[in-house]
Order: sequence, then structure tokens, then C-alpha cells
Amino acid sequence: LSAQATRYLQAHLRDVPDFPRPGILFKDITPLLAEPRAFHMTLDLLVHPFIGRQIDAVIAIESRGFLFGGALAARLNASLVPVRKAGKLPAAVDRVAYALEYGEAELEMHKGSLRPGAHVLIVDDVLATGGTAAAAATLARGQHAIVAGFAFVIELDALLGRSRLAHDGEAQVHALI
Ligand code: AMP
Repeated sequence: LSAQATRYLQAHLRDVPDFPRPGILFKDITPLLAEPRAFHMTLDLLVHPFIGRQIDAVIAIESRGFLFGGALAARLNASLVPVRKAGKLPAAVDRVAYALEYGEAELEMHKGSLRPGAHVLIVDDVLATGGTAAAAATLARGQHAIVAGFAFVIELDALLGRSRLAHDGEAQVHALI
């Protein structure tokens, strides 16, 4: 990203200290959503590496991943598949448990969401430790899909999440800020 583009996007992100717990610096994307030019630019930049590549489905991670995933799926003429927290999806699901900083969480995807061999792009707002995105990738691979890439607005480099998403080097990890 150019320094100018980075500055422009950064001006529409807000750091909220001690949310949701003391010691966490929360990256708030709502100012970016509120400014049409900034949101449009974010979508352009997120989708850019994947234009012209085979992406059959976009997997959007609850809940802020939904805000970007739907728009990216429409731009890529791809299916949109939500991955949700446990207990939200109504039909039969595949489930994966993964470790959080404190405790454990579960993500679910409807069974039969992905065709075997489908190429998928996994989308969320923030890449932190990578546990959430890796869990979504596990769900996708469980349905015999190929994870072609990950797209994030923000990557917290210090947490080394990117290294957790490498899987035989097949998936491209794309983050804007
Ligand atoms: P992780 O599994 O550690 O990569 O965490 C990623 C998930 O937690 C994403 O769904 C993010 O929306 C959220 N998240 C983690 N850290 C932050 C942060 N500092 N600010 C905002 N969201 C975060």
C-alpha cells in the first residue's frame, strides 16, 4: 500500500484502549464503515490481489468479517458462506474448537457449504493471533475446499498470526494495515 493510502485508512481507524478487557487495544473499524470513500477504498484494496483468480466462495467470520465478506463476495461473483459462533446457524453444522488467550471458543459452518475442490477466501477485520482464521480454514478444509487466501483490514504483526495461517504455502495472506 502507498504511504498515502495507509495514512488515509489509518485516519479512519480508532484505537480503543482496555476494550473489551483491560490491556487490550481494540482496533475499531466503525469510523471506516461510516465514511463511504474509506469503505469503498478498503474493499478495492482487499479484493485487488484476488481479482482474476479462482475464488468460488468467500468465508466471512462472525461478526465484523460479515461487514467486509459480503461486499467482497459480490465483487468476486463468489458464494458467501458465514462462519459463526456456536449455536447461531440453524441447520446441521461442522464445528471446530480453538484456543483463545483465556479459554476456548467454537466456530461453526453449515454442512455442505463448500463444494469439494472449491477455492475459498477467508475474510475478517483483524488478524491477531490467527487462531480464529486458522479455525475457519480448518472448517473449509474439512469440507475439502482449498484455502486460496485470507484477507484482513488490519494485521497485528507482533502477534505473529500470519505464521499460523501458512499451510504448505498455498494460501496468500493479505492485510492492508
Ligand atoms: P485471533 O484469533 O487472535 O487472530 O483474533 C482475531 C479475532 O478477534 C477477529 O475476529 C478480530 O475481530 C478479533 N480481535 C482480536 N484482537 C483484536 C483487536 N485488538 N481489536 C479488534 N478486534 C480484535
